Amino acid sequence: MSFLVSFKEATRPVRPVQIDETKKKHFNQSMVLYKSKRFLKAFRSFIALARLFSSTSAESRASAYAMISNSYKMRAKRVGENSVEAKQLLEKALKYLDLSLESEPYWAEYLESKGKLEVFIHQKFGCDASFDGKVWTTSCYKVSRALGLLGVSPGMTQRFECSICGKDPVMCEHVLGQIYNGRVALAVAKDIRPDHIAIVDEPMQLEAYILPRPLTADMLRSILPSKLAKAIIARRKPLTCKDLLKAIHKHRLRGIDWRAQ
Ligand SMILES: [Zn+2]
Ligand SMILES: [Zn+2]
Repeated sequence: MSFLVSFKEATRPVRPVQIDETKKKHFNQSMVLYKSKRFLKAFRSFIALARLFSSTSAESRASAYAMISNSYKMRAKRVGENSVEAKQLLEKALKYLDLSLESEPYWAEYLESKGKLEVFIHQKFGCDASFDGKVWTTSCYKVSRALGLLGVSPGMTQRFECSICGKDPVMCEHVLGQIYNGRVALAVAKDIRPDHIAIVDEPMQLEAYILPRPLTADMLRSILPSKLAKAIIARRKPLTCKDLLKAIHKHRLRGIDWRAQ
């Protein structure tokens, strides 16, 4: 089920939603700079392009934020995927893509790029466990899955609306997953009322799993390499799911209590 996304795919620029001749020319120039790996110039070019959009229409606002997102992708390209700055730059690219999706929630290209950025950031840098002053808690589905914990499938009653026309998707002419003038047809759940929670082997929402017990400093010392455990306990480093996945494989940990097999 998990698929990998390359740095190249995660940092591919997106097109504006709305475009006239001047902006099209400017966008094409930015793309030439990107393709010839002149990332600093491409970064500046996307910033200048973002300024050409006004905030008067939803399309224009979405385009401006998407071009800012592109500029952060160019900065990430410049520093390279293995640098410490790359994570922050990609998170910024994701944040601006989210802002553009606020104006154009079903714009297919932005939804796809957002998904790639999210998968890449998680795959490359892992996600951080939260710390409440005493214990570390992870809510990462990869960790739950590696520990062999079951998935949770929330049962609910809901109503669906087509993202294109707002009608019941069973009744309207739009085909789910198809793209209409740049926007993807989705069945959008409305009025969600959870009524039960079922425990299953293969949850429909693939990221919903039972969570393992929070980790104490003593537990970290016993499962992580000592230098790493020290740094995390001293709060010089966050505990990431990548650290935990390595520990799970190394010590063959299973279950809610992180018990060695
Ligand atoms: Zn994670
Ligand atoms: Zn429809």
